[in-house]
Amino acid sequence: MNIRIGLGTDSHRLEQGIPFVLGGIFIPFDKGPAGHSDGDALLHAICDALLGAAGLPDIGRNFPDTDPAFKGADSKQLLKKVFEMIKKEGWKLGNLDCSIHLQLPKLAPHIDEMKAVIANLLETDPSNIGLKAKTGEKTGPVGEGRVVEVVAVCLLVK
Ligand code: MG
Repeated sequence: MNIRIGLGTDSHRLEQGIPFVLGGIFIPFDKGPAGHSDGDALLHAICDALLGAAGLPDIGRNFPDTDPAFKGADSKQLLKKVFEMIKKEGWKLGNLDCSIHLQLPKLAPHIDEMKAVIANLLETDPSNIGLKAKTGEKTGPVGEGRVVEVVAVCLLVK
């Protein structure tokens, strides 16, 4: 069996008046991730983990933030496209594990829904998706609520 590990990271600045989207779902909050697309840092980190594992160009090269086609883009569609590219190379997901660094909003009530969305997009069982939320202990850019950061690792198998 052929096995590949992949690593992806992403961060987005949080600003007032932007819808808060993470893991493909909207969560009520007064701030949201600034970005050219919808700013979904979790799905972007997952895209890069998958692309990295397959040795393909990263998300920025596939979906440039200078391209008006991706302005306000739903990142679920970007992840879907990435997974199609991965499948075309013969890979399927072994498992995915992610850590989200975010002070607020609290993510615990939303983790299962995010897992279900991601598992559906990656055609796998939610038990193959790990999602952990960590605060910044009220210090630094994460703890002061200025940014959301995500680290994702995945295994691809074929
Ligand atoms: Mg991003």
